[in-house]
Amino acid sequence: MKPRFTALKGVSDVLPPETGLWRKIENAACEVMGPYGYDEIKPPVMEQTELFLRSIGDSSDIVAKEMYSFTDKGGRNVSLRPEGTASIVRAYVEHNLSLRPAPQKFLYFGPMFRYERPQKGRQRQFYQLGAECFGVADPGIDAEMITMLVSFLEKIGLKGVSLEINSIGCKECRPAFKENLKAFFTPHLDSLCPDCQRRYEQNPLRILDCKVERCIQIRQNAPLISETLCQDCKDHFSGLIGLLDAMGTSYFFNPHMVRGLDYYTRTVFEVKSEGLGAQNAVAAGGRYDLLVSEFGGPDTPAIGFAAGMERLAMLLKEAATGEEVFPGAASPAIFIATLGKEAATEALKIASRLRAAGKRVEIGWSGSLKSQMRKADKSGAGHVVMIGEDELKTGKFKWKNLKDGSSGETAKEELLAKF
Ligand code: ATP
Ligand code: MG
Repeated sequence: MKPRFTALKGVSDVLPPETGLWRKIENAACEVMGPYGYDEIKPPVMEQTELFLRSIGDSSDIVAKEMYSFTDKGGRNVSLRPEGTASIVRAYVEHNLSLRPAPQKFLYFGPMFRYERPQKGRQRQFYQLGAECFGVADPGIDAEMITMLVSFLEKIGLKGVSLEINSIGCKECRPAFKENLKAFFTPHLDSLCPDCQRRYEQNPLRILDCKVERCIQIRQNAPLISETLCQDCKDHFSGLIGLLDAMGTSYFFNPHMVRGLDYYTRTVFEVKSEGLGAQNAVAAGGRYDLLVSEFGGPDTPAIGFAAGMERLAMLLKEAATGEEVFPGAASPAIFIATLGKEAATEALKIASRLRAAGKRVEIGWSGSLKSQMRKADKSGAGHVVMIGEDELKTGKFKWKNLKDGSSGETAKEELLAKF
C-alpha cells in the first residue's frame, strides 16, 4: 500500500510510545520549575510578521531565511512563530503584566517553525519548552535560571552535556565592539561566505555565529567582546560567575559565543551535548533587557531560555539501555474476551468500572475465544478475563494471568479488587 498523503518535508509526527517520553520531559519541567515560580503560558503559534522582525532582527538567519510568512485572507502579514520569546514579551506588554508583582515567571511548551534544511535533530516544525523571567536585573536571577535549567536536565536523566556562558554586552558597549569586529573582518571580506558578507553590513556580530568552515577559520583571531565590555556589564558577568561557582554549577566561559538572535543583551548561555553530531545545541538562552521597552512596555529586564524537545528525546533514547525510556508505553492490564452480544455489553460495564479505577482495559469484541486469546497475547495484556454464557449466568468470571500462566475464577463484585 502506498500512502496517498505524507507529512510535509521536515515536519514529523510524534507517535506513541515516544509521546510518553515527551510527557515525562514536560512533567519534569513543571516539577522542577514550579517551585522556582514558573507558571505555564500559552501564546498563539502565529503573530504579525513585524513582531519577529523587530525582535529577532533582520540580520538573523531566522528572519533572513527561515520564517514561514504569508498573507492571510484579510491581507495581514502573518508568520508562524520561529521561537517563543517574542510572543511572550508581546503578551507581557499587551496584558500589562508588569503591573503584577515582579518577578513574573513563565513556562511554555509548543511547536516552532523554521524553514531549515531538514536533517538529524533539525526539523521545520520542532517543539521547544522554554522559560522566561521578567523584572529582575540582578545576576542572581541569571544564576537561578541557569541552575534551574541544569536541574531540569539532571531530572530527566540527561548526561554528557556542558553549559557555556558569555556576556555580549549592552547598548553602551556593544556598538564599539561591532566597530572593532568590522575593522577586523574588512581585509577578509571577499573570503567570507555570502551570508557573512551580508552580516558584515547588517550586524557583524552574526559572523561569529556562522557555521561555514572558512568563516570559522577567519574569525579565529577576531576580537573578543569580553575585552570591550563596559564596567556594568563586567560586574554583571562576574556577579553571575561568582554565583554559579557558589552553587557548584559547572560551566565553560566561551568568549566566542554570541547567539543567533538580535535581542540578547549581557548574559547568553547554551547547553551542548556530546551525542548529537552537528546539531549539538539542546538548550539556549540569554538576557533581553531591552525587548519589553522596545515593544512599548516599561523598562523591564528579562531573561529566558528554550530547549529543543526532539533533541532532548533523541538523547534520552540514545542513552537508554532498557525499555524504561518510554514510561507511557503501557500495555493493557486486562483484556476482556467476550462471547456473544450480551457478554460484550457486560464487558463494557465491567471495563468502565476498571477504567474508572485507572486500569487500562481492552475488550475483544468478536471472534472465537482462541482468536481473542491471541489478540490478548499480542496486546501485551497482563490478564485475560473471559465472559461467555456460563459466566453471565453464574456471575463468576474465569481469568488467566498471561505472564505466569496461572488462572482462576472471580466473582463479578470482586473483580475490581482482584486486578
Ligand atoms: P542551532 O544552532 O542548532 O540552529 P539555534 O541557536 O538556532 O540552534 P535556538 O533558537 O537557540 O536554536 O533554539 C533553542 C533550541 O531549540 C536549540 O538549542 C535546539 O535544541 C532547538 N532547535 C532550534 N532549531 C531547531 C530545529 N530546526 N529543529 C529542532 N530543534 C531545533
Ligand atoms: Mg538555528
